Amino acid sequence: MPPFAVIALVLILARAITELWLSRLNQHHVCAHANEVPSAFRQLIDEATYRRSVEYTLAKSRFGDIANVFDTALLVAVLFSGVLPWAFGRFIASFGTSILAMAGFLFAIGTCLSIAALPFAWYAQFKLEERFDFNTTTIKTWTLDRAKGFLLALLLGYPLLALVLKLIEWTGANWWLWAAAVVIAFQLLMLLIAPAVIMPLFNKFIPLPEGALRERLFALAQRTDFPTRSIDVMDGSKRSRHSNAFFTGFGRFRKIVLFDTLIAQLTERELESVLAHEIGHYKKHHIFKLLGISSAGVFVALAAIAWLARQQWFYRAFGFEFEGGLAPSRACGIVPAMLLFALLAGTISFWLSPVIHMWSRHFEYEADAFARATMGEAQSLIQALRKLSEKNLSNLTPHPLYSGFYYSHPTLLERERALRTSA
Ligand SMILES: [Zn+2]
Repeated sequence: MPPFAVIALVLILARAITELWLSRLNQHHVCAHANEVPSAFRQLIDEATYRRSVEYTLAKSRFGDIANVFDTALLVAVLFSGVLPWAFGRFIASFGTSILAMAGFLFAIGTCLSIAALPFAWYAQFKLEERFDFNTTTIKTWTLDRAKGFLLALLLGYPLLALVLKLIEWTGANWWLWAAAVVIAFQLLMLLIAPAVIMPLFNKFIPLPEGALRERLFALAQRTDFPTRSIDVMDGSKRSRHSNAFFTGFGRFRKIVLFDTLIAQLTERELESVLAHEIGHYKKHHIFKLLGISSAGVFVALAAIAWLARQQWFYRAFGFEFEGGLAPSRACGIVPAMLLFALLAGTISFWLSPVIHMWSRHFEYEADAFARATMGEAQSLIQALRKLSEKNLSNLTPHPLYSGFYYSHPTLLERERALRTSA
């Protein structure tokens, strides 16, 4: 085995083993608190619901372990069996090395890998979520969702891939700078059009009906100087009993969205506090900061691909070799690096997730503080958070190392503590 293949294998296994270990750590931590409701939660959750939340956490976690082992085995098989260079060779023999063919190759491999993940997605929705009474998706909706997702990838993702490959031919060694600019512009465009064009393909959005709630929420938007033209209710209940709220889009296209499930679970004042939290994200410029980070990620990724595509040892490690050491076209010489990078990126980025999540939890604290200041009290948000974690059967006792790696939001107790002490 070439030296870099060994390194890659070690990195893949290190990640998988760490993930399984974290999961085991968390399962033990949850089980250790499973016998009775911890004193901090006695006021907010009854014995039966607590027990259910423990069962739900453990069931999800065990299923996650199986999926993890499968994903790792699949990744190792795909990378080291020689199937990729073989498929690449066959593809070139049948379709040539044109830009459209090369983009087609990347798209086809991506499609095959997502098909391999389908049974797990199906099980999670129709067995796991069903068992805990969260699932409301029908097989028809689920299948249509997948079909629409595939068509969107074909209509948007495939042309983007082709454009990036075209840039390799149009521009010189700095193609990756141009490509990064194009990818970032594409992301911005998607953010802009998603609320109007893409999200309605999956859900119905209706304006919040006239009445006390609507008046209260628009008054809040006015008070916090948050320009919005519409507050919509989304039929989240079409797929799940889980609840959520978010806002999306920029400027004129901005849209505040409340799940119908959320409206059913919270009082008007609690809903107002949740919306105040969402507005807090906007006021503290979290969206732009996140966009900044993801743009930086795009630059780093494309720079890495451009560099890796010039390294013989990288290609050799995974069995990619061109006749006479020369790729038939520039794009053709870079496509394997793109593919290998996409497959391996998670192996590296996993180790960054505690840092990214720490940052994201910091944003949540800021948005909570904004909501508290806007509402003039912390109690309604605390009440809303308690209800949401109860209704969603959230894990109330995650292991700190586990939540450090995986949680984008602080735990309920951490948020309550911050909301109370900053008062
Ligand atoms: Zn938030």
